[in-house]
Amino acid sequence: MKTYRIATIPGDGIGKEVVPAGRQALEALAARSDAFRFEFENFDWGGDYYRQHGVMMPADGLDALRDKDAILFGSAGDPHIPDHITLWGLRLKICQGFDQYANVRPTRILPGIDAPLKRCKPADLDWVIVRENSEGEYAGIGGRAHQGHPIEVATDVSIMTRAGVERVLRFAFRLAQSRPRKLLTVITKSNAQRHAMVMWDEIALQVSREFPDVKWDKELVDAATARMVNRPASLDTIVATNLHADILSDLAAALAGSLGIAPTANLDPERRYPSMFEPIHGSAFDIMGKGLANPVGTFWSVVMMLEHLGETGAAKLVMNAIEQVTANPSLHTGDLGGNATTAQVTDAVCQHIAAHARPALAA
Ligand code: ATP
Repeated sequence: MKTYRIATIPGDGIGKEVVPAGRQALEALAARSDAFRFEFENFDWGGDYYRQHGVMMPADGLDALRDKDAILFGSAGDPHIPDHITLWGLRLKICQGFDQYANVRPTRILPGIDAPLKRCKPADLDWVIVRENSEGEYAGIGGRAHQGHPIEVATDVSIMTRAGVERVLRFAFRLAQSRPRKLLTVITKSNAQRHAMVMWDEIALQVSREFPDVKWDKELVDAATARMVNRPASLDTIVATNLHADILSDLAAALAGSLGIAPTANLDPERRYPSMFEPIHGSAFDIMGKGLANPVGTFWSVVMMLEHLGETGAAKLVMNAIEQVTANPSLHTGDLGGNATTAQVTDAVCQHIAAHARPALAA
């Protein structure tokens, strides 16, 4: 029997509610599998930890995660702590420390979800966005001078390395190749940003030669937003820089019906370090502690984690459970216009797992 060591980091706000829900789903799977089990270790890092210790996670925190097979993360964000501290002190520290350079965000309109684009059929919107996750606009290079004086200056320098661009583009081409449509759109802004973005275009052309069966095109990021709304079916796999894909994936999540549903994976494709899986929503302090958070984004993140671990039967089972839940309006949480609670949705997912585990996990 395989044992997967999973680190759970609930973080802040509703992260403390949805991560335990994700763990419950994993436990429901393990209870019915003869092939694998999970060993969990929970880390109480985040805003409360910061108030006690002055840091979001301990200095040697990465060492505690290093031997894990995967990390399930909730959210980092606290109304009383500046956003750049919560982000850089925890989530980015893990992403960058473990060189999780490919951020992968699947988007689909799940059964039963009332998505805002009225002309868009669910089959028209089936995307995976790959976000460069290690450098670019979020490289953290820059500084401030003359602070508080009229001549104050601040810079954020975007860093694009050939190695960094090449590896994420190769990952995206490979992902596109693995999907039925074998279609990739490379998004840049190479008309206005005439150095790094032009290099992206050049490297995309070079890498594309390794993937003759993948059809690909280029789009400027501004035009891409309009294309996502007007011609969603013309897109399948999408790759973009750290900043551009950050924005495009929030648009994608909104077009699919709710921020509460969308998952993401921060992958180290070379598997030198653990990869990290998380819902894309933030800490949502307005609904925190009320049991109202939609746990579906976390369940979908669990699906991505299981795929990464190679447990494809278990991944499919959890995805089926999610689709059963979203198809049933009485199991919709407030973000989807319903009244269901986190616990009700979680119980329904765990019951589906229990009821269908035999054939699914034996396969
Ligand atoms: P942060 O500052 O950590 O990014 P935020 O509260 O500004 O968090 P989000 O949490 O991403 O932003 O989401 C904005 C709003 O969407 C929330 O205030 C909440 O009302 C709603 N929302 C987000 N995620 C969920 C969820 N999983 N279930 C229910 N509602 C959600």
